[in-house]
Amino acid sequence: MASYDFDIGVIGGGAAGLTVTAGAAQAGAKTILIEKEKKLGGDCLHYGCVPSKTLIKTAHVYHLMKHSKDYGLPGVNTPPVDFRQVAKRIQSVIDTIQEHDSEERFCKLGARVEFGDPTFVDEHSIRVNGKTISAKNWVLSTGSSPTAPPIEGLDQAPYLTNKEIFSLEQLPKSLIILGGGPIGIEMAQAFRRLGSKVTVVQRSSQILSKEDKDMADMVMEVLQSEGVTFYLNSSILRVDDLGDEREVTIKNGSNRITKLRGEKILVALGRAANVEGLGLEGLGIEFSGKGIQVDKRLRTKQKHIYAAGDVTGQYQFTHAAGYEGGVVFTNAIFHLPRKVDYTFLPWCTYTDPELASIGMNEKAAGAAGLEYSVWTEEFKGNDRSLAEGERVGKIKMILDGKEKPIGVQILGPQAGELLSEWVAVLNGKVKLSTLASAVHPYPTLGEINKRVVGNYFSPKIFSERVKKGLKFFFNLKGRACGGDA
Ligand SMILES: Cc1cc2nc3c(=O)[nH]c(=O)nc-3n(C[C@H](O)[C@H](O)[C@H](O)COP(=O)(O)OP(=O)(O)OC[C@H]3O[C@@H](n4cnc5c(N)ncnc54)[C@H](O)[C@@H]3O)c2cc1C
Repeated sequence: MASYDFDIGVIGGGAAGLTVTAGAAQAGAKTILIEKEKKLGGDCLHYGCVPSKTLIKTAHVYHLMKHSKDYGLPGVNTPPVDFRQVAKRIQSVIDTIQEHDSEERFCKLGARVEFGDPTFVDEHSIRVNGKTISAKNWVLSTGSSPTAPPIEGLDQAPYLTNKEIFSLEQLPKSLIILGGGPIGIEMAQAFRRLGSKVTVVQRSSQILSKEDKDMADMVMEVLQSEGVTFYLNSSILRVDDLGDEREVTIKNGSNRITKLRGEKILVALGRAANVEGLGLEGLGIEFSGKGIQVDKRLRTKQKHIYAAGDVTGQYQFTHAAGYEGGVVFTNAIFHLPRKVDYTFLPWCTYTDPELASIGMNEKAAGAAGLEYSVWTEEFKGNDRSLAEGERVGKIKMILDGKEKPIGVQILGPQAGELLSEWVAVLNGKVKLSTLASAVHPYPTLGEINKRVVGNYFSPKIFSERVKKGLKFFFNLKGRACGGDA
């Protein structure tokens, strides 16, 4: 039987890789983690979720300061934002979380951490830092990077991506954001609120193109009301560096050409899998810039080489990477055939209001050819929401032809938190009647979850047939006001 230096080797120390490493080491497997950068934590910690959500909070506080009168408070003079202070706060939050993702912590758990640039030399061995290291199983969890599509002039014009935007020296006076996906839209609102003039260019006819149009449009309307300008149905023809400014030439669906000028450009046009330089070519596994191909157990064509997280090009979220890391761990260490199931994978775009989703939306149900019905409830009917000064948004519950819930979308305050109840309901196959009869505390935003289910049950409970039956059996006298009173 072949002997290897390690039971499992993990390449890439982000959400996916750290999950596998922590699990494998704690289970007693001899584990090595190899990370290219100087610190563990990956994109989420250094250039993604953590800095973006920290920035969003800062922008939210500044926005509230500017709108203090809406809350019955005196007006506040808001001096301009010093972005170096904002960046400092972002870095301090990263540094605090970094302690949890430190080399020392993983060493204590029993894993060896090696910093370097590994390349496969055969299907069980890599070369890194002048050493050859073999492992029985390997996990590719190298994540993804921002892509810059071949737009004329873009490579000669300085532009920002998520790698630079959180550590700027000063707030851009104006920012042109290429791409209306979650990253672009979150940044659009945050920078606008901090004081930048923000323009978003989006190729399709709506922002957040995976979401239902009615929900995405509501997000866009909020951002427009805060001063963000949108160009939809617009393709980018070229980018020119004018010295102090950049110029972006776009063309809309009616072939109208517009030239936009801004101090900075943020490219948020999608992600490419980090597969370069790993020496994957000779291994007989299938991959492209879009991702590494895996089966439902997250195995590549070489069954002992797994891939998890953004590098698979599937669901590019931290919680998806963590989930996939767990599936790899179960398969590789416990040898239990666990498959991924994304049916109820939730996600959230952290605009204000947030847009959270689980399961199928109308777009997905329609594309799957399903018969479905939609039940809604608006936040302007939720007492707590009004007390909080939040009137925008709604919840949509999607039922299939058999009236089983297949998805929920929430646009509103703290939608990401509110979705958690649905995570339990859908994964736990909880009956809608249970949710409808469960007492929720008043006044909470969460009551909206119960109310939307109530909207589904009400027409059944108060149908003419039921009313007739009750009248007959209990001799009810009918309306006391209006109608037959
Ligand atoms: C601006 C922004 C905001 C985001 N916000 C959210 C959010 O709010 N919620 C959410 O769920 N997701 C969010 N994401 C997505 C999230 O960051 C990713 O889905 C997550 O980081 C993926 O984890 P991962 O482990 O696959 O990859 P990563 O976390 O990127 O980790 C990959 C690791 O591999 C290392 N690596 C790369 N190549 C090599 C190599 N050749 N050798 C060794 N190591 C290598 C990298 O340095 C990195 O440390 C956001 C992303 C961005 C860009």
